Amino acid sequence: MSEVLLKVKHLKKYFPIRQGIMQNVVGQVKAVDDVNFEIYRGETFGLVGESGCGKSTTGRSILRLIEPTEGEIHFDGRDVGSLSHREMRKVYRDMQLIFQDPYASLNPRKTVEKLISEPMAVHNMYTPGERKKRVHELLEVVGLNAFHANRYPHEFSGGQRQRIGIARVLGLQPKLVICDEPVSALDVSIQSQVLNLLKQLQQDFGLTYLFIAHDLSVVKHISDRVAVMYLGRIVELADKKSLYDKPMHPYTQALLSAVPVANPKAKRERIILEGDVPSPSNPPTGCTFHPRCSACMDICRTERPVLRNLGDGNMVACHLYNE
Ligand code: SF4
Repeated sequence: MSEVLLKVKHLKKYFPIRQGIMQNVVGQVKAVDDVNFEIYRGETFGLVGESGCGKSTTGRSILRLIEPTEGEIHFDGRDVGSLSHREMRKVYRDMQLIFQDPYASLNPRKTVEKLISEPMAVHNMYTPGERKKRVHELLEVVGLNAFHANRYPHEFSGGQRQRIGIARVLGLQPKLVICDEPVSALDVSIQSQVLNLLKQLQQDFGLTYLFIAHDLSVVKHISDRVAVMYLGRIVELADKKSLYDKPMHPYTQALLSAVPVANPKAKRERIILEGDVPSPSNPPTGCTFHPRCSACMDICRTERPVLRNLGDGNMVACHLYNE
């Protein structure tokens, strides 16, 4: 059995809804509502769902960039939730985030050398001379050149900027990298290049990824296991092959039916999801997917299905699999 690097238990993040002059709390947005999963060392764990399903909030709560409302986060043997902000700073060296928009995450007034060496300087890694050498090495590792070090972010394309962001993270030699939609702002032709780079770096540096995306086709290439989120909860969690070959949850089936297949002769019926994702401030009763589910039964309207193990390690939250 592989070693668990990250364990998330009963994670919740509720945002208060305030109204009136007194800003009284009149409700809550349950962005993340009792999420549980483990990530093994060296694997890529995909977290997928439509926008607003809570996947990015989950990523940020793990890093405590936003404070979770409830729940436990254990990373590399440490209880992250109990650490002070000072102690968390040390954890940030091991747990890093790659952002969706590489341009917004890079200070336009700093050179590439400064941008990549800065995190290493903050964590007192290397002497200034060694850092400069390391920046040049990292630029080569991510497919850029040492002479790019003196340039500014605006001189690069979106794909190159994402490579700079990756080099910045890589300098810290992290154990876990949370990739928050790292290719969704890029052209399709560039997406696969960045995904291949992330895969190569994982092999070369033994990285573990939590890969957040709204598109199941993006996650397919890179993930070992995938969790599908809907309205703040995981509705299915399975190894990649099971999930893509035989999706169990009606929501996963609908998402997958929209993914283009490489074989033009292969027929796949497109499942159109009716309606929008309901508001997490006022989720439907029972199974929160029931207003959009074509397999909805009476029980689905009143009883919330729990995420249960199907016996092979794969999990699904749906009344269709009660027995
Ligand atoms: Fe559909 Fe019922 Fe399963 Fe929810 S529990 S996904 S409504 S069949």
